[in-house]
Amino acid sequence: MTAAHPAPLFILSFRQRDELASLAAGAGWQVVAARRAGGAERRFLSSGAAVAVIDARGAPEDGLGATTMLSGAVEANGGAMLVLVSRGEVGTISALFEAGATHFLASPFSEAEFLQALRFAARHAERMAREWAAGPVFTALGWRYDLAAKALVLTPGLMALLAMDREPGVRDVLRRLEPGDRAAALAALRRMSPARPATAFAHDAEGIGRIVQHLQWDVDRQRIDAVVEPLGSAPEPAAELREALAGARDAGSARRWLARQLESPSEIPLHTMLVALNRFDMVNTAYGRAAGDALLRSAQKRIDDVVREMLGRDGLIARMSGSTFVVAARAPRLRIDLALARIAGELARPFVTGESIAVLGCRIGLAQAQEGDTAATLLRRASEALAEARESDSATMRVADADGDGAPIDRLAVELNQAMDRGEIGILFQPQVSVSSGEIIGVEALARWEHRALGTIGAETLFAAAARADLDIGLSDHIQKLVLAQAAAWPASLGGLRLSLNLTAGDIARPGFADLFLDRVDSSGFPRARLTLEITESGLIEDLGIASSLLSVLRGAGCRIAIDDFGTGYSSLAYLKALPLDYLKIDKKLAQDITGSPRDRVVVRGVIDMARSLGLTVIAEGVENEAQLEALAAEGCQIYQGFLCSEAVSVAALVALVTG
Ligand code: C2E
Ligand code: CA
Ligand code: CA
Repeated sequence: MTAAHPAPLFILSFRQRDELASLAAGAGWQVVAARRAGGAERRFLSSGAAVAVIDARGAPEDGLGATTMLSGAVEANGGAMLVLVSRGEVGTISALFEAGATHFLASPFSEAEFLQALRFAARHAERMAREWAAGPVFTALGWRYDLAAKALVLTPGLMALLAMDREPGVRDVLRRLEPGDRAAALAALRRMSPARPATAFAHDAEGIGRIVQHLQWDVDRQRIDAVVEPLGSAPEPAAELREALAGARDAGSARRWLARQLESPSEIPLHTMLVALNRFDMVNTAYGRAAGDALLRSAQKRIDDVVREMLGRDGLIARMSGSTFVVAARAPRLRIDLALARIAGELARPFVTGESIAVLGCRIGLAQAQEGDTAATLLRRASEALAEARESDSATMRVADADGDGAPIDRLAVELNQAMDRGEIGILFQPQVSVSSGEIIGVEALARWEHRALGTIGAETLFAAAARADLDIGLSDHIQKLVLAQAAAWPASLGGLRLSLNLTAGDIARPGFADLFLDRVDSSGFPRARLTLEITESGLIEDLGIASSLLSVLRGAGCRIAIDDFGTGYSSLAYLKALPLDYLKIDKKLAQDITGSPRDRVVVRGVIDMARSLGLTVIAEGVENEAQLEALAAEGCQIYQGFLCSEAVSVAALVALVTG
């Protein structure tokens, strides 16, 4: 490696990108460096580098995720992947190795050691490239087409998969595709341009199942590189998973379901979406198959709950393969978009795997059935859209053939803005009741969306849509003004009630929020001292420092603070001590568990004891029956909220409850 021949080098470092980049550049490398894993695969491919460096020091999970993500591309390019690990984390090396790393360097290391490791990796890559030219030896699935020489090279892995014993020509390969698939392949090739060097298409291959081909046009080298991803080749789910998913559909029955739907036309459009978990391989590798299976079950449950709530019993949910699910339903597009926003929100919430917390998220591809579609063509368009979403840094969702309709996100934004303008967002109030006296002492304001066509849309869906459309702050502002204006105009009979208002994570993170909010309260005329602000655990954990100082200001100004949904996510008791709080709200799931097993009861008791020892007042939410209330009262809970007293109601109904 000399400065006379600068070779490209790709570096992904979450913390020390610039240091590593300047070191390597000083030694003559032409560095492309990234600080985030998002889109790294694409950036690696377009860098033309044969060596990728992943800096996993102090971030073993992210490092493993990135290694897994890049492995296909590195392997298909005959490259090397050097992973930097902390000395204390060398235990992760075997997982990294399995995930596709070829070289390791443990910190602390000197500059010279780093550069030497780079040279080793580069030499390895060169060897791989020679072998690739001589007749490749590795098992990655992919191919490469040299535009100038018009030569196609398949990896041996792909040749084996296709049961070919000699290098085929382009025609041979195309001939093996179904006519529809052949058209899709040619269309994908035509889509490519210097401005859009990456695309993908999907097809079925006999004996293999569904395959996605990720194409990358290397303009400089005049060639097309493809990574072939067989969706159907994921290992069979373990028996216990199959059992747990019994009743859930598989890919075959999903296809039959779609075929039946397509045979019986309807005015209501049929939508099909593929939902793929991000970084799922990382969980399998890092925590083992059992954890992976458990995570898949909870992911499926989250999707299933949304489908049943939003799309009704007629919606389809099935597990395709690996960590991809198919969801399909006949429903208006807006309802589908809202359901997708909810699914994306649900899958973005952390999953607890054993002792750890995994944050995965998902990508979604959506296709609407058209005249002449079969189940296969419909699924193909959905998987092309999914592959496009995967290519993108930022897009969670892509729509196949989005002709003029715009992306779901854009349409959600338009709908939400209209909803606010037209006054479709309404506020209801749910009573909070003193356990000892049975008296209503306060209310929580809860938002509803009265949509002209879809009817009432719940707060969870409303906020999930706003989060996707990047409108959460706008919506939160709008609702705060509405709530304060309404409460300031309450009749005298409600004059003794406290008012609880939910803040979002976006509010908390917003610079200058405290001043803005207090101004808003004061100009509404509602007294600060009767206001409680509810903040969720997940909203707080993003930045404890910011949260803590914001809460101090609000509390110093006379408001009270409640921590909401306690017991759902992180439940770190440690930071409760660090924050200025007044109330702890036990999440409805936990509160309802109290009449379950003795073990559940112990958990609730522990939370209540701890809250009381910190001087916090405990509010239980979701109390639906006397048995739950009795048990919670026995454990020392002071306030409750739930259908047992009342759901969220209008001001008129609230007056009747309070005075009645
Ligand atoms: P949350 O703050 O935990 O609100 C409690 C949710 O539990 C409400 O759902 C309420 O209707 C429901 N609930 C109350 N009692 C019972 C019960 O006895 N059983 C059951 N099963 N459920 C009960 P909702 O109104 O759909 O709100 C969902 C979430 O949306 C809220 O959870 C909150 O996080 C958010 N949200 C609602 N309104 C607003 C708002 O105005 N601003 C903000 N930032 N978030 C809001
Ligand atoms: Ca709340
Ligand atoms: Ca709650």
